[in-house]
Amino acid sequence: MQKNYYEVLGVQKNATKEEIKKAYYKLAHKHHPDKGGDENKFKEINEAYHILSDEKKRSQYDSFGQTFDGAQGAGPEGFDFGFGRGGFDSESIKDRFGENFDFADLGDIFGDLFGGGSRQARQNTKQGNDIEVELEISLEDTLVKQTKSLVLEKFATCSRCYGKGGEPGTSIKECFTCRGAGEVQQIQRTVFGSFTRITTCPECKGEGFKPEKPCNVCKGQGRIKEKETINVFIPAGIDTKQVLKVEGKGDAGRKAGKAGDLYIHIIIKRHPSFQRKGDDIYTKAQITFSQAALGDEIEIPTLGKSKILLNIPSGTEFGRVFRISGKGIPHFSGYGRGHMYVELEIKTPKKLTKEQKDLLEKLRKEGI
Ligand SMILES: [Zn+2]
Ligand SMILES: [Zn+2]
Repeated sequence: MQKNYYEVLGVQKNATKEEIKKAYYKLAHKHHPDKGGDENKFKEINEAYHILSDEKKRSQYDSFGQTFDGAQGAGPEGFDFGFGRGGFDSESIKDRFGENFDFADLGDIFGDLFGGGSRQARQNTKQGNDIEVELEISLEDTLVKQTKSLVLEKFATCSRCYGKGGEPGTSIKECFTCRGAGEVQQIQRTVFGSFTRITTCPECKGEGFKPEKPCNVCKGQGRIKEKETINVFIPAGIDTKQVLKVEGKGDAGRKAGKAGDLYIHIIIKRHPSFQRKGDDIYTKAQITFSQAALGDEIEIPTLGKSKILLNIPSGTEFGRVFRISGKGIPHFSGYGRGHMYVELEIKTPKKLTKEQKDLLEKLRKEGI
């Protein structure tokens, strides 16, 4: 059955982009498999977010109950235009969608969905699997958008037969056993009478056709396992638990079937000196007692290569936290950045010279 993506994320149908993002973050955090969450639930949440966070996909989903880019979760069962399979006319379409509806688009959709139930089912079985991988990136990597290369061993379309499964120069023939139907009837005789059972054709595995001579390279599968380098675009501000989807970069389908999708789970590596909370980053800086008492200007590294000067007023307490605006992680929305927080710590001297000791003794006598 078709899932209701708004229900999956627990938001209203008129939710803003921000509300959807917030709900997604909360749920993705709660159901993340790394934290013992249910993987299917997590996938469902990501799927809902993938559709609802994209304006075009969301409006398609709102109008039709699915999107047309091959995103999952939209089988023919969940697709109901309110008229019978195959029985529709242009008038009823116009009634539903108005005069400006693009019939060219509809032709494609209906061609796929109403072209015959068994053909649809057969195409689905040829579809390649989705692939899920984890990608570790550094905290610095989140500062600017960038492209990373991933090398994956996966099924790719066979280049000898172009995925068709037949040896080049030979033809693909209608299956002799089922005469192209993809299914065969078996008559079972029992004490209660004869029953006709329809099963998938064992000869062509339900495809209705067979190559005259299977391709030498892929043995008729239309795909082979090989290494592929995939360039992944990573937006700035991305965080652990976010999942990127690359359409059509999963396993190639069998016999020129549709390829699966690639899902990349982002993991941000722990940074030695910065801790991320949302889009803000936290760090510590050490100063001496005299710097705190008299005031000073100290150099602080930011995330990335640059450094900033932090002004320490005289009489600063240890443990005080300074906020440096706009030096955190860029917001995923593309506008603005989080902040950087610096907590001051005291640097207690471990070894003192005779002179230093005398000075500190004098300070002690002064009550400092
Ligand atoms: Zn057959
Ligand atoms: Zn081949």
